[in-house]
Amino acid sequence: MTTSTTRKALSPEFAAGLSNILAPEQILSEAADCLAYGYDNSRIQVSPDAVVFPHDHEQVLAVVQLCNQHHVALTARGRGTGTTGGSVPLRGGVVLSTEQMQKVIACHPDDRYITVQPGLSNQAVQEIVAEHGYFWPPDPSSAAYCSIGGNLAYNSAGPRAVKYGTPRENVLGLRAVTGDGKSIRTGVFTTKGVVGFDFTRLLIGSEGALAIITEATLKLTPLAEDKRILQAIYRDIESATRAVADIMKQPIIPCALEFIDGTAIDLIRKNSDITFPEAAGAMLMIELDGAQQHLAADVEKITAVASNHGLLSLTAAETAEQASALWNARKALSPALRNVAPNKINEDIVVPVSNIPALIHGLEELSAKHAIPIVNFGHAGNGNIHVNLLYDPENTLQAKNIDACLSQVFDLTLQLNGSLSGEHGVGISKQAFVARELDATSLNLMQQIKNDFDPNNILNPDKLFIETQT
Ligand SMILES: Cc1cc2nc3c(=O)[nH]c(=O)nc-3n(C[C@H](O)[C@H](O)[C@H](O)COP(=O)(O)OP(=O)(O)OC[C@H]3O[C@@H](n4cnc5c(N)ncnc54)[C@H](O)[C@@H]3O)c2cc1C
Repeated sequence: MTTSTTRKALSPEFAAGLSNILAPEQILSEAADCLAYGYDNSRIQVSPDAVVFPHDHEQVLAVVQLCNQHHVALTARGRGTGTTGGSVPLRGGVVLSTEQMQKVIACHPDDRYITVQPGLSNQAVQEIVAEHGYFWPPDPSSAAYCSIGGNLAYNSAGPRAVKYGTPRENVLGLRAVTGDGKSIRTGVFTTKGVVGFDFTRLLIGSEGALAIITEATLKLTPLAEDKRILQAIYRDIESATRAVADIMKQPIIPCALEFIDGTAIDLIRKNSDITFPEAAGAMLMIELDGAQQHLAADVEKITAVASNHGLLSLTAAETAEQASALWNARKALSPALRNVAPNKINEDIVVPVSNIPALIHGLEELSAKHAIPIVNFGHAGNGNIHVNLLYDPENTLQAKNIDACLSQVFDLTLQLNGSLSGEHGVGISKQAFVARELDATSLNLMQQIKNDFDPNNILNPDKLFIETQT
């Protein structure tokens, strides 16, 4: 863990200003209390000088205006489950936690939207809208803990994105406070609308660097009647990728199309009692959803499409027990990875589907070259691969090679027309690599947009990309 605990006292004027806006129980300023709000899943830690818990848009507005007046850095925080350091307050200052912003502002089932405050967890939203027969498609596996604000700021998704899209495709509009302390409403309450530039999709994925989202109008999707799960095991990555491309070319789009590579299969074999065919080199988990009366035919069609010369076995679950047994093979992977390499680095690069074999073979070469085992799994239908570098800091050779290895993983990704992050964002962890993906003109335009939204650079400073002087 990278840790910095240097704290600066906030000025008495600033502290008095905070007390004018918020009740005492909405402010933390003791070092021990602030510590817990200084880290996320990136394992980087910097303690803030104060933590505030506003209740609504108006209180956020007043806090942002105060921070502007005093040039105090302000970092928005959902639940701190992010993996790239976005909610870590690099310059100290104030962390604005949305924990106490968990209200439903409006629910309109007939218009298929709900407007919520950003501190609600993803799962809480799913439970509320399920009562009306809907779900909100983004489904990070941290759904029980992570906040809607964090989901939007990172454009976080999960398996369902392959069929239903990411937050960018599932948000109608936002209310927010810009870095210079102004209220803004973006988007519409309809599924069509083209007046003005699309600030909704600009703010989604902006990692808290342009504005603080205070309300989000989420587009809802009707829950499917039922689901079916298939597990397909292939001889090699080429056959599995062929199947992914063939599945995505036909109209029955799975609601999950997950993959694990041969190294991951070996790891599961060694760390559980789950068995695979001896020649297994890759596995796909294919989940279909839809109307009950069509699912049997859908399973038949997908079975035919997924059956190529490299298929070793294909099992379709008939019952809920069989379905959970099939998922167990995939679920056994995360604990196995944690056991083998507690300090592993998990990247979430994305490449066009047909480049997955070249990516996996390139990663095998990098693994051999740097003596660092690499295990890959992820959302194959989107080409979003979680590349796990099983690095042991106590191993001198691996410690020496890890930076070069990671850098070459990113180079390989970009050579294959890929992107550095599919869903985890840039934060602090990937900041140094962004200029490899984005051209100088784009970076300058982004810097100008940042300056327009946040002229005093108080929102999440020193993150996302290396700031240029304009
Ligand atoms: C076990 C585990 C599993 C995970 N699985 C997935 C997965 O399947 N898919 C996936 O995409 N991610 C996954 N993640 C990563 C993480 O859960 C997501 O990135 C999540 O969206 C972060 O939400 P959060 O509330 O914790 O946000 P935080 O980590 O607190 O913040 C994330 C970013 O959002 C900004 N932010 C937060 N709230 C606001 C706001 N209201 N306005 C503006 N900016 C804001 C912060 O400043 C920061 O930059 C996983 C993490 C863990 C620990």
